[in-house]
Amino acid sequence: MLLASFIKTQGQDEKMNKFITDLMNKMTVEEKIGQLNLTTSGGFVTGSAVNEKTHEKLQTGQIGGMLNALSLSSMRASMDIAVKESPHHIPLLFGMDVIHGYQTVFPIPLAMSCLWDLTLVEKSARIAAQEATANGIAWTYSPMVDIARDPRWGRIAEGAGEDPWLGSQVAKALVKGYQGNDLSLDNTMMACIKHFALYGAAEAGRDYNTVDMSKVTMYNDYLPPYKAAIEAGAGSIMTSFNVVDGIPSSGNHWLLTELLRNQWGFKGFVVTDYTAINEMINHGMGDLQTVSALALKAGTDMDMVGEGFLTTLKKSLDEGKITVKDIDLACRRVLEAKYKLGLFSDPYRYMNAERAKTDLMTPENLKTAREIATRSMVLLKNDKQILPLKKSGTIAVIGPLGNSKKDMIGTWAIAGNQDKICSVVEGMKNVGGNSVTVLYAKGSELTDNPLLLKSDPLFSPDQKKSSETVTSPEQLLKEALQTAEKADVIVAVLGESTAWSGEASSMSDIGIQKVQQNLLKALLGTGKPVVLVLINGRPMTLAWENANVSAILEAWAGGTEAGNAIANNLFGDYNPSGKLTTTFPVSVGQIPLYYNHKNTGRPMDVNNKFTSKYLDISNDPLYPFGYGLSYTTFVYGDIKLSKSKLKGDEKLTASVTLTNTGKVAGEEVVQLYIQDPVASISRPVKELKNFKKVLLQPGEKKDISIEITINDLKFYNSDLKYDWEPGDFIIYIGTNSRDVKSVKVNWVK
Ligand code: BGC
Repeated sequence: MLLASFIKTQGQDEKMNKFITDLMNKMTVEEKIGQLNLTTSGGFVTGSAVNEKTHEKLQTGQIGGMLNALSLSSMRASMDIAVKESPHHIPLLFGMDVIHGYQTVFPIPLAMSCLWDLTLVEKSARIAAQEATANGIAWTYSPMVDIARDPRWGRIAEGAGEDPWLGSQVAKALVKGYQGNDLSLDNTMMACIKHFALYGAAEAGRDYNTVDMSKVTMYNDYLPPYKAAIEAGAGSIMTSFNVVDGIPSSGNHWLLTELLRNQWGFKGFVVTDYTAINEMINHGMGDLQTVSALALKAGTDMDMVGEGFLTTLKKSLDEGKITVKDIDLACRRVLEAKYKLGLFSDPYRYMNAERAKTDLMTPENLKTAREIATRSMVLLKNDKQILPLKKSGTIAVIGPLGNSKKDMIGTWAIAGNQDKICSVVEGMKNVGGNSVTVLYAKGSELTDNPLLLKSDPLFSPDQKKSSETVTSPEQLLKEALQTAEKADVIVAVLGESTAWSGEASSMSDIGIQKVQQNLLKALLGTGKPVVLVLINGRPMTLAWENANVSAILEAWAGGTEAGNAIANNLFGDYNPSGKLTTTFPVSVGQIPLYYNHKNTGRPMDVNNKFTSKYLDISNDPLYPFGYGLSYTTFVYGDIKLSKSKLKGDEKLTASVTLTNTGKVAGEEVVQLYIQDPVASISRPVKELKNFKKVLLQPGEKKDISIEITINDLKFYNSDLKYDWEPGDFIIYIGTNSRDVKSVKVNWVK
């Protein structure tokens, strides 16, 4: 069976190679360089792209692909020119940032990672592919697998959080969802892993900033998700904007050739990020011709919108700075992608007007979006059992995000249909039913910070029109308090605008904005029960809110079905089970703060000044990695091991008895961490290695067993050799990375 599929694949590869060789034999150098040029469709830009004379370039074969086009008819028109008028009729590759759904928008990726449910993550990608491929898209710039430990960085919203193991599982699930088992089908699209590499470690959380880290940290903590996505078969990878070991990624030969291709065996193609080649000029690597040649030589195949390749590679070739072989290699890889996607057999296979009418935002897709959004939310606090809310009486939804649609959609939802988004007010009415009265008041603006007010209209297209009347802050507050007065319970919906997370959306203050906090204080002052619902794209600093509000639900930017999903959680139609995949710090001053840190030589001791800590604040986070509450309670028994001494590749089973001690059914994410306390390099205090998500009825007990093998003990040592070292290991199992049971095991070689 295996042999048969190997022979089949080989046969297909030979056929493809011959086809591409024959084609390339007919192409001029200029036409080959043209295939390396990815241009913008002009609609959605995140930098200064060059996109003049598109028609002429298409005719002469100077464009290999286009990004972020929305209109099927304009895509068809461009494809027509490429396949009918260009010299070799080579089809175009249309790409887009479809990162959490296409028209049916799922919660932002950070939220989806809080599902701890890889089947649902994969399903979201499958639906995204089904929709996007009906509308012309064959290639998505996802998964974004950058590990992020700094919530000031707005792009933390786009990834799966801070953990390399969980990040790797999510990366694989997304690639599988987008690509399926057969890329040539007309409802699967090619994934693009991004941003290679280390983009999430930008200094001070400032976007596009310098990255500097040791190789050991790179290999153990930052590179695993890229590698996992490659192993899952992703067809392409995008370079990052930052330097890696001093050299910008797009011109980094070690990164793009030695590591990516020689060590990891990547066979797909490398595209740069937006104008990343041109930006190497600012990085101080030389002029456009120099940096373009550097990028090609390093292993970059396609130039995103900067036209450095298009305008300088021929000259570099004539001057002997690059070879035809270099160009051929890149061109072949781009053509291979087109071939694998089936574009040569039918350039229009992803432009199916019929499917575009029937396959987008189907009831089934919306149902899944609602399920995913519902399950991605994290209950951060529920003292005094304010939640779940009763489906009776009057509920006042108050806050600048309470009736917003655009801020539910989250970053990069380019094709997302804003009108179809369910707001919190709508969701509360839908789920609450006729016996609940839902009132609404805005209460305050999102911010009064003038810089934030004018932040990036690109990501929030329906910002205030000049004709809109502005209500004074006093009046907004007055209306809110009047509304609150009529209610039995207040649902305060606060947080961030969609424009405050995602690309170029770094923040130095990640707390709730002052004007919103003032509103919250006033609402608490009414003495009525207040539930805080957070809409946001990053971990926030919530020390004050945690100390003063009894119930907090982290709802993220939940996408199309956000409002219904929030209401599902608030009314207890769903018992929350989401768990954080990023640490929530108490204060910005603690950042970077992550659970899998090293111990230091002087671990924190509050009674000893000369230990690693702050004088004015604890080291502890507000909410640790893996944290999330439920409307029920779970009790963990002690960990039982199948053996306490192991040798070689024996397997270990760790089990706990989990009991639902509450009154309602609920799901729990049982998390397994390992620590290697003595090793040749200093190892983290804990590392997530596995989890199991289980549903328990009230009073039900279940034995949960998780298998551990030597693969779970491996790490990269200071020679970057991946292996495990014998000795004692500590196994932790618990409800989050802080609250765990532990047991020691000895494992020798
Ligand atoms: C972003 C990428 C994105 C690309 C294309 C860039 O600005 O960094 O993540 O895929 O634009 O839209």
